[in-house]
Amino acid sequence: MPRHPRVRGGGAAKRTVDAPEPTCFSGHVTRVVEADYLVVGAGATGMAFTDTLIDHADVGVAMVDRRHGVGGHWLEAYPFVRLHQASAFYGVASTLLGRGRVQRQGPEAGLQERATRSEICAYYERLLARLQESGGVEFFGSCEYVGDRTFVSRISGEWFAVPQHCRIVDANYLSPRIPAEKPPPFDVADDARVIPVNELARLQAAPSQYVIVGSGKTATDTCVWLLAHGVDPDAICWVRPREPWMLNRAVVQPDPVVFIGMVADTMQAAEEAASLEDLFLRLEDAGIMLRIDPSVVPTMAKTPTLAEWELEVLRTIEHVVRLGHIDRVQRGRVDLAGGSIAIADDAIVVHCAGEGLRYPPLVPVWGPEAITLQPIRAGFPCFGAALIGYVEATRDHDDEKNRLCPPSPLPDSMAGWARMSVLGARAAAAFGSEPDIKAWADRVALNPARIPPERAGSAELRATLDRVHAHTRPGLARLAELGGVEPS
Ligand SMILES: Cc1cc2nc3c(=O)[nH]c(=O)nc-3n(C[C@H](O)[C@H](O)[C@H](O)COP(=O)(O)OP(=O)(O)OC[C@H]3O[C@@H](n4cnc5c(N)ncnc54)[C@H](O)[C@@H]3O)c2cc1C
Repeated sequence: MPRHPRVRGGGAAKRTVDAPEPTCFSGHVTRVVEADYLVVGAGATGMAFTDTLIDHADVGVAMVDRRHGVGGHWLEAYPFVRLHQASAFYGVASTLLGRGRVQRQGPEAGLQERATRSEICAYYERLLARLQESGGVEFFGSCEYVGDRTFVSRISGEWFAVPQHCRIVDANYLSPRIPAEKPPPFDVADDARVIPVNELARLQAAPSQYVIVGSGKTATDTCVWLLAHGVDPDAICWVRPREPWMLNRAVVQPDPVVFIGMVADTMQAAEEAASLEDLFLRLEDAGIMLRIDPSVVPTMAKTPTLAEWELEVLRTIEHVVRLGHIDRVQRGRVDLAGGSIAIADDAIVVHCAGEGLRYPPLVPVWGPEAITLQPIRAGFPCFGAALIGYVEATRDHDDEKNRLCPPSPLPDSMAGWARMSVLGARAAAAFGSEPDIKAWADRVALNPARIPPERAGSAELRATLDRVHAHTRPGLARLAELGGVEPS
């Protein structure tokens, strides 16, 4: 297969970071950073891309982030957040996050470990040191990329620019919006007590009631955390504008029999599904999807993972408000699209209603202006970004790279979930057909569908793969119909 000219060992181009001849650019005295790539965003995707790129190509990378350090939104996350899925699926390709341990104690005994916020932040800090020690990466923290190949320090005011040959990498296209950084999307009267979720852990005194606003992972984490601290379920009022479908964490594990078995069950359910609703109910019967309230069919399908023990405790909260989005909160009262409710005068309303995941249109990863990092297989953004780094390092032509890595969307609704599954499966078939990419992907723990060589021959796995092969074609065809995707 053709090797990219910059591949380590055979490369023509040399790394040339930091040739700081000041020049006049955009009307400012500007330091020129002689990098081959400018990665805008040092969150999970920017780090995963850079880590793989520099492991496979002899190039210079400048990373810029308006935050002071690397790790992206995790630097501002609420203190009790954990990854919703196994640590092994998160981070970068070169370095496992955590130790790949199965939990032996606690309610998730038998499931793989999940990192806390501080573990994630420490991991990214260590990685930055590794990237910098490689000599190929320079990090510019507290700097704003302002477009036109230019960024400016928010601290010193110094301006920087990269030359024309430097490729811009957009590593913030899907960056989530979080409650700590966005005000609540409703009016708050002066006499109301509304706090972002981050402040919950700093409360001085308990109120008689908590009002949790939001239907996503942040809200479920918050309810579980309050209940674990002994808050009476009846002291919680949960405003859920939409009901969420969530994935059962037990079937999203770094074990090919478990993960690929879940894929086989999904394809079988899809093959037989009469409608989207029927599909999700079948997935629930198969132990794949979970919903909090069995009497309501959810419409939201961002599908973070949830453990069954969390489901059980969440179901103890009976005061659920389904009157749409909140318009206004005032002392003793909440006005929603579908009516008003009374709350305690001293109630604390916890803002968990950040936009979270975002849904801009899919764009080709390799475009004329930028390399735009997006998921490639269904979900798992860190794997997608690492894969893009590998393909960038090992292929020459953007058309070919785009053929191998068509992007897939993040899901919000049941139809969106079906669409993600179809586009992600098509992408996996495209990149998986290249032997070197398949071999790389099978070594990378970030890839949930990887088959480590030592597991490849097991009878159990062969039986699981047979099931996948039997159901994938009809399952994907039905998912395409349900998700409104053109046949391939
Ligand atoms: C609470 C929470 C939990 C999650 N848990 C998981 C999980 O368990 N597993 C999973 O796969 N996903 C999870 N996600 C989804 C998450 O979106 C992705 O995993 C991933 O972290 C997103 O990384 P990112 O690089 O796209 O964005 P970010 O982490 O937001 O990084 C983008 C960076 O770009 C910087 N930036 C943006 N614009 C500029 C500019 N003009 N100049 C300079 N810098 C700029 C920002 O400062 C930011 O640091 C979770 C999301 C949330 C909110």
